[in-house]
Amino acid sequence: MTKPVFVIVGASLTGAKAAEELRARGFDGRVVLIGAEPERPYERPPLTKDYLRGESERANAYVHPEGFYAEQEIELVTGLTVSAVEPGASRLTLDDGSQLGYDRLLLATGSEPRRLRVPGADLDGVYYLRTLADCDLLRARLDIGARVAVVGAGWIGSEFAASARQRGLDVTVIDPQALPNERIFGGGVAGFYRDVHDQHGVELLLGDGVESFEGTGAVTGVRTASGRRVECDFAVVGIGVVPRTGLASGAGLDVSNGIVVDASLRTAAPGIFAAGDVANAWHPFFQERIRVEHWANALNQGPAAAQAMLGQEVSYGQIPYFYSDQYDVGMEYSGYAPQWDEVVFRGDRAGGEFVAFWLREGRVTAGMNVNVWDVNEDVQALIRSRQQVKVAALTDPGVPLAALVGEFAAGT
Ligand SMILES: Cc1cc2nc3c(=O)[nH]c(=O)nc-3n(C[C@H](O)[C@H](O)[C@H](O)COP(=O)(O)OP(=O)(O)OC[C@H]3O[C@@H](n4cnc5c(N)ncnc54)[C@H](O)[C@@H]3O)c2cc1C
Repeated sequence: MTKPVFVIVGASLTGAKAAEELRARGFDGRVVLIGAEPERPYERPPLTKDYLRGESERANAYVHPEGFYAEQEIELVTGLTVSAVEPGASRLTLDDGSQLGYDRLLLATGSEPRRLRVPGADLDGVYYLRTLADCDLLRARLDIGARVAVVGAGWIGSEFAASARQRGLDVTVIDPQALPNERIFGGGVAGFYRDVHDQHGVELLLGDGVESFEGTGAVTGVRTASGRRVECDFAVVGIGVVPRTGLASGAGLDVSNGIVVDASLRTAAPGIFAAGDVANAWHPFFQERIRVEHWANALNQGPAAAQAMLGQEVSYGQIPYFYSDQYDVGMEYSGYAPQWDEVVFRGDRAGGEFVAFWLREGRVTAGMNVNVWDVNEDVQALIRSRQQVKVAALTDPGVPLAALVGEFAAGT
């Protein structure tokens, strides 16, 4: 009898964790993990942090040790792109012309940087940061020093700016929002992050967009919408990511802000699943479709998809979580708060040690702990409780969060 073939497209964190899970659950068919990049699966967070700054080894970035895939009999194919999927024939085609049949298919194709389409965008020295290869180029630029213009004050832009400052470069950040990430977090948290960068000597040009990159052959400056010219030796663009859905839409799968899947990460096509940055999944707790572009989602959703591929009952309902490190400011964010009524704070915001809570109709929908640790589980428990909270208790550092959760659990 021929063994079943489970294929995973996308050899990054989601794909690697899914492959690991298939073996951990005792699957003894073929596991084929196909990735377009030349590297074995690695994690991206170090690429704006310690690896970028030259403080950690490349080896630390990989998801698994080198021998792992061979030991686990996972057929890792690197440097090849899957160019087509035919759901009717349960077959895919790679860009070297070869074809492969599958019994189950996981699409873990991730996301890619949104491109800035302005004059001069293709000049040398205008960089994006997604892959280890991108990071190696930028790491070399940080070694040389000088001036960098960072376009976008989202997480990638902010973390890159922090690392570049830590390496001693002159850094200018340009963003059309009045404050970094203001639309996502509101003025209180966004203002805190603006101040952090300001205090570390980053020049922030907020409320201003990019009109063009200037230079002959290589970028030498950025012209802003307000007419200002920012001199730079190179520029980094971090204006968000878009899900990589071309393969799925070419296969006729339902694509809408990512590949549409149910809570068990299944598409409507038999045997085809999607997970990680590319998946727009029904969330059983929030009762809506959510696409999460963060590390923890890749880490956990990959294994959940593997379980679903094995026919197990899966309902992926993890509360979205991400973290960021900038200078000496570490934070964790849990929850999902597309709208909120108010944001309240516990702790010392000016001193940079606090927890922010997003409230909707008196309930905590998200929380962010900044340089305060070991509260994340309590924040998630508060969110899951769906209980209306007393703001006075929530903002009082003298009341342990765990006690609040207990109080809610007891229904008082
Ligand atoms: C620089 C950087 C720093 C980050 N820092 C943080 C952080 O601090 N905290 C946090 O929570 N999150 C962070 N993230 C986000 C996190 O890394 C992503 O959420 C995570 O990488 C998503 O994993 P994924 O496997 O779903 O997709 P991806 O990592 O995007 O990987 C998808 C892979 O699929 C491959 N692929 C795509 N199409 C094909 C095809 N047709 N054939 C073959 N291969 C294909 C791609 O080449 C890619 O390797 C960061 C991201 C970046 C870029």
